[in-house]
Amino acid sequence: MSDHINELFDEDGNLIGALLTAEAWTAVKPVVLAKLGLAEVARPEVMPEPTDDWETLKEYWDFPYPVDTDVACEHCGNATDDWAADDPRKFRLTAANLAGLVSFQCQNCQAKVVKKHFKDTITTECTPFRDDKVRSKEGRY
Ligand SMILES: [Zn+2]
Repeated sequence: MSDHINELFDEDGNLIGALLTAEAWTAVKPVVLAKLGLAEVARPEVMPEPTDDWETLKEYWDFPYPVDTDVACEHCGNATDDWAADDPRKFRLTAANLAGLVSFQCQNCQAKVVKKHFKDTITTECTPFRDDKVRSKEGRY
């Protein structure tokens, strides 16, 4: 074969697997993952926006102020007056619930922006993006 591929056989001569060099594996990994239907695992998961939850929150809005649609990222300065009107999105909705907790992901720097709606005020928390998950995956080879 080649220095890059070592086929492994059991004592009866049946092929049981193959060993690839790091170089060979890096070259064929995307193809192998795609063939096995595992390609999504290699990419960060993109969840659809839970717009139904947002619609429900608006429907049952019982705060003494109008529905707010502005989002701002303290981390990179990205900002919008109406996140839902942006195309493409500056901020993606990641969660909304009836308690008034609405989360977004900044599409510029991936920071998480959480808006908490209280009776008399709205607070915003901005958490910079950490790709711990991706890094630990890459650390394995
Ligand atoms: Zn940002």
